[in-house]
Amino acid sequence: MNRKRPAILTVCTLIAVLTFAGCYRPVSYPELADTDVYPTIVRAARYHVVGTSVEGRPIMCLVLGQGSDVALIMATIHGNEPAGTPLVRRLATHLRQHPEILDGRKVVLLRLANPDGLAHKSRYNTRGVDLNRNFEAANRLNSKQSGLTALSEPESRAIRQVIVQYRPDRIVTIHQPLACIDYDGPAQELAEHMGQYCALPVKKLGARPGSLGSYAGVTLGIPIITFEMLGSDSQLDSEVLWQKYGRALIAAILYPDPVQ
Ligand SMILES: [Zn+2]
Repeated sequence: MNRKRPAILTVCTLIAVLTFAGCYRPVSYPELADTDVYPTIVRAARYHVVGTSVEGRPIMCLVLGQGSDVALIMATIHGNEPAGTPLVRRLATHLRQHPEILDGRKVVLLRLANPDGLAHKSRYNTRGVDLNRNFEAANRLNSKQSGLTALSEPESRAIRQVIVQYRPDRIVTIHQPLACIDYDGPAQELAEHMGQYCALPVKKLGARPGSLGSYAGVTLGIPIITFEMLGSDSQLDSEVLWQKYGRALIAAILYPDPVQ
């Protein structure tokens, strides 16, 4: 008689029960593949599934460092603004190669906030909602396109959950194509600091109803940058994007310290 069989059955049953209960999610994520290269840093790196899109795609978050100063950097809340995603992936590589940046700091990376939108090359999520109008801000307007209620969409709830969980000291959300560094909340100095490290001008565009900027910047008082790159940046590979914008992102992480 095979004595291993009951043990295997027990493990399979346990996984089935946990999966059904939503406690166990098998994770496959490209960035996991290169973790062997940087074992020291990876010990301090944590991947999380922070939510699931309407079509069932995981929304992933990578946390690097364990310090008390927290920067959240995210991209592609609008699915037709794809360039931020490879830029944030390249930023993760840089942080692994330069662990000194993480001294006293924690960096939370959410490189693809709207995976369904990216898959369909759409600004909106699958239900036609602009996620960047779906937050619980004082200036929110309920509508089909902004969501009939605040946080009606799983993707915006995932972003909010990251903010509640990590309580970032500042947030950078990467967009296209308005070619400027916009800000909400007490973030003018941070915007000007980042502006020293890239060619984008600082420009106050004004708070959009129910936007992440209105929610995080105005409602919660967290300095938040809307980092608007160019439309043509979608054609660039991650190395060229990094040359154009990498130092500005590092500046946001190191703020108020200068980039060496
Ligand atoms: Zn956008």
